Amino acid sequence: MNLADAIRTIPDYPKPGILFRDITTLLGNARAFRRTVDELVQPFAGRKIDKVAGIEARGFILGGAVAHQLSAGFVPIRKKGKLPHTTVGVEYALEYGVDTIEMHVDGVAAGETVLLVDDLIATGGTAVAAVQLLRQAGADVVGAAFVIDLPDLGGADRLRAVGVPLQTLVG
Ligand code: IMP
Repeated sequence: MNLADAIRTIPDYPKPGILFRDITTLLGNARAFRRTVDELVQPFAGRKIDKVAGIEARGFILGGAVAHQLSAGFVPIRKKGKLPHTTVGVEYALEYGVDTIEMHVDGVAAGETVLLVDDLIATGGTAVAAVQLLRQAGADVVGAAFVIDLPDLGGADRLRAVGVPLQTLVG
């Protein structure tokens, strides 16, 4: 089974001209989902990982499964205003404007080792901001794992450039 075949592409979503990679078909396929989680954790298995940080919203689904597999805790990284307790945040640039991601102030402790997880890396803006947020809290970001990499958009290179090794499954 090819994982790429389990992912659906939706044209013109959410805007005309965008080809949206929809992983709900992969998540609904038991064999594909298990293999995805196995392959996401593969480079990090046997390492000491205290926490998996998942980026809203599909990073929660994958990150929860990855955390279970690594016997790690899970910490959610969300869009501004969604978390109930005191937060820390980082602003990052979008094509037009800015966005903010947040984490609970006690989401990670200084010195904890963290693996970042999301469904897809495109420009890398979101992931690099998440790394900044985790590092500001004193975490050691030991790696990042994504199902899909869109290499033409350069995100994987940006993440490597800030010292984060990454695992991606589908180009
Ligand atoms: P980046 O910040 O440009 O790397 O965009 C990555 C973020 O946008 C991730 O949180 C993804 O979930 C989301 N994203 C961008 N394009 C897609 C897509 O085609 N399918 C699913 N998520 C996407």
